[in-house]
Amino acid sequence: MTTVNALELRDVRAGYGKATMLHDLDLALPAGAIGALLGPNGAGKTTVMRTAAGLLRPGTGTVVLAGEDVTRTPPHQRARLGLCMVPEGRGIFRNLSVGENLRIQAPPWVPVDDAVARAIAVFPVLGRRSRQSAGSLSGGEQQMLAMSRAFMASWKVVLLDEVSIGLAPRVVDEIYAAVRALADSDVALLIVEQYVSRVLGMADVVFLLDHGGSTYAGPASGLDEDRLTAGYLGPAAAATAPSR
Ligand code: ATP
Repeated sequence: MTTVNALELRDVRAGYGKATMLHDLDLALPAGAIGALLGPNGAGKTTVMRTAAGLLRPGTGTVVLAGEDVTRTPPHQRARLGLCMVPEGRGIFRNLSVGENLRIQAPPWVPVDDAVARAIAVFPVLGRRSRQSAGSLSGGEQQMLAMSRAFMASWKVVLLDEVSIGLAPRVVDEIYAAVRALADSDVALLIVEQYVSRVLGMADVVFLLDHGGSTYAGPASGLDEDRLTAGYLGPAAAATAPSR
């Protein structure tokens, strides 16, 4: 039996203008798996996610979603095929109410009230704050609002880009309780996270990226600390990291 990958990047070269950021990158996330995408700042993690979501079209290579070539498929159609991206930086409308934000996030094929109810079931605080402007929410609540879409439909792939950034540890715990719930469903998750330990514990597969190329793809158990330090902080940091 062949395993269908939920998401594949095959030999992808992508970048911005003339600058190539991903160099012939291969990445395969099996259906239902939890993947951690790790690498130093500027390694290309967000670029991988934007390419997967269709926000960036690769110069060469192929993007495959649940067995279907989506390289030339626009973002909204990739969403319809089962891909959800939660971008870094809490893409919410600060001047609109929480309720309005939730309704805007509802995927068009899901009845709006059902979509909103699903999000509120995961994050009850959003129901209590429904009439409040999104900009007046705490940072953690804003992140919950930004993540709501991930819970509004039965996605095949959810991309989570730095969902804990700038949040206090207690709030990160809350966010990760929701991520855990998502991980326990059938969805395949690709997670970019600065708190490496948060994702390594739950990841089935780890992808290390450096300068737009893959330096490791495999189980977390196959990573020793030196390799992880090198892969996450960059080789220079690993060389200067204190040994234990
Ligand atoms: P970080 O951990 O800092 O978020 P990252 O691994 O997600 O980094 P990317 O955001 O994918 O890295 O950026 C990869 C490279 O592409 C970086 O050198 C960055 O400066 C560059 N880059 C990102 N977005 C753009 C853009 N819109 N135009 C030009 N260059 C860009």
